Amino acid sequence: MEKIYNFSAGPAMLPIPVMNRIKQDLCNWKGLGTSVMEISHRSEYFLRFVRETEEDLRELLEIPSNYKVLFCQGGARGQFSAIPVNLLNQSSCNPDYIESGYWSQAARIEAEKYCTPNVINIRKKFNKTNAILSIYDWKISSQSAYIHYCPNETIDGIAIYEEPSFDDKIIIGDFSSMILSRIINIKKYGLIYASAQKNIGIAGITLVIIRDDLLKNNNIAPSILNYQILSNNNSMFNTPPTFSWYISGLIFKWLKNIGGIKKIQEINNNKADLLYKTIDNSNLYINNINNINRSNTNVTFQLLNNNLNNLFLKESYDNGLHALKGHCIVGGFRASIYNAMPIEGVEKLAKFMIDFEDKYV
Ligand SMILES: *Cc1c(COP(=O)(O)O)cnc(C)c1O
Repeated sequence: MEKIYNFSAGPAMLPIPVMNRIKQDLCNWKGLGTSVMEISHRSEYFLRFVRETEEDLRELLEIPSNYKVLFCQGGARGQFSAIPVNLLNQSSCNPDYIESGYWSQAARIEAEKYCTPNVINIRKKFNKTNAILSIYDWKISSQSAYIHYCPNETIDGIAIYEEPSFDDKIIIGDFSSMILSRIINIKKYGLIYASAQKNIGIAGITLVIIRDDLLKNNNIAPSILNYQILSNNNSMFNTPPTFSWYISGLIFKWLKNIGGIKKIQEINNNKADLLYKTIDNSNLYINNINNINRSNTNVTFQLLNNNLNNLFLKESYDNGLHALKGHCIVGGFRASIYNAMPIEGVEKLAKFMIDFEDKYV
């Protein structure tokens, strides 16, 4: 069978060594004669696995000791609710919601059920491209309970690489499509979260890294979303999605093996550079995002001749390059190139794009 490269935005492809390991473990995990899916989350084996998984993640992301790591449920959208219900109380000032695209807006719309967010639009035009205001120009409120933003807009393909730095402010980041793809300075944040199906593993588990002073008892928060309760119960207040958790653990080991975040960041930069160069050097493809805000994980592009869209989609698919269709609300194309996408997949896509243009333009 021809090698398939899957550019899906999420659920996204997993590394081949991790898939092979799952296959090997499936019916007989750790020599127990049973699957990890079938054993108690309170068993000694699973608890040991959970401890090791957290240690691996702490090492990869250099998580300071005053931060708790929580494995939650409900996806990133669950966190859109969890954040306001945990962090706001009656005397809180309204939070700032920074808007740069689809997901940061969706987070703000959910928060409106619980408060009246200050909406701060940071999109701008720069030399006819879509760009993001520098953090120094963000109109942060003088008083706000927290600042929420999304460093990588998965659908729009627009990213913020500057690290926010606002004295004494609690910064919250939706890192769903950026986590583990590059070095981040956790200390700058009060809380970061990410759903798993992009760069952590498979859907079902949601990572939350929270500074411990933000854990407080909040009686209004539903128990299943309550950070204090989840923390007190080792992320096992109810039965956790053990299989998703297990796959995250394999991913962290795989990342450590290939050299950690510094190494994967280098590889990711090379992958993104190759695609953006291919786009910029062509007369058929365009990406209208300002250079410094181009996403390294979700590369969006359009064809200048829209009549070729269907053909591009069909021929790419026939060449083993799958799931390149852009999200329906923005159209065009999108190549999601998270950690699991090898450089060979990106090289194959770049070559296909050049050949396609030669053939039809
Ligand atoms: C995928 C994604 C979400 C939604 O994640 P779910 O797990 O479906 O809730 C939210 N924010 C960003 C940035 C995403 O990429």
